[in-house]
Amino acid sequence: MQIKQIRLVKMANFCYLVGDENSRICALIDPAFETDRILAKVDDLGYKVTHLINTHGHSDHTAGNQAIISATGAKLLIHADDAGRLGKVLHRTFSRVLGGKGSPRADVMLQDNDIIQIGEARLRVLHTPGHTAGGICLYSEGHVFTGDSLFVGAVGRTDLPGGSMKHLLNSIHEKIYTLPGDTVVWPGHDYGPTPSSTVQREKDTNPYTRR
Ligand SMILES: [Zn+2]
Ligand SMILES: [Zn+2]
Repeated sequence: MQIKQIRLVKMANFCYLVGDENSRICALIDPAFETDRILAKVDDLGYKVTHLINTHGHSDHTAGNQAIISATGAKLLIHADDAGRLGKVLHRTFSRVLGGKGSPRADVMLQDNDIIQIGEARLRVLHTPGHTAGGICLYSEGHVFTGDSLFVGAVGRTDLPGGSMKHLLNSIHEKIYTLPGDTVVWPGHDYGPTPSSTVQREKDTNPYTRR
């Protein structure tokens, strides 16, 4: 499995390419902005995009859905509890402000523990409500993509609709901090001192998740 972290300038978002090296198919996680640059990267690496996965329904993660799907025909996957956000008028307005054109509806509504198969690569869905009701992390042995649930040295905000600090901390402790300590944490934004971390390092040093 190949992982490529692509930093997007607009809101310091991280988009991820998760590719199966044999079949040369890949998933894109949250390709929200600069979709031409992301697709050029996909081409450079010799992949075809078959899956577009949103870690949650906020526009700064979904604003690129239409452009990526139009260009690639990829399937759109998002947790069932955030899928309704994709078609909302409020969302479309916000998305336009951010340069997007609204999002198509989801093709697959994800649930906790679902397996997303990308060639021979597998991502397991960890439902981690708290930042939004339908927020997810994606786990593959050695790696976890944490969206806006867990950042390097911080956690996602919980003051937006559907947010709950209590739920978010439970999600982090039960679903992320129970993974092996050397699992690499790949966050949804570049908000920390380093672009990635590990489960153990966050357990030891993240001031927001101390109990
Ligand atoms: Zn968010
Ligand atoms: Zn975000």
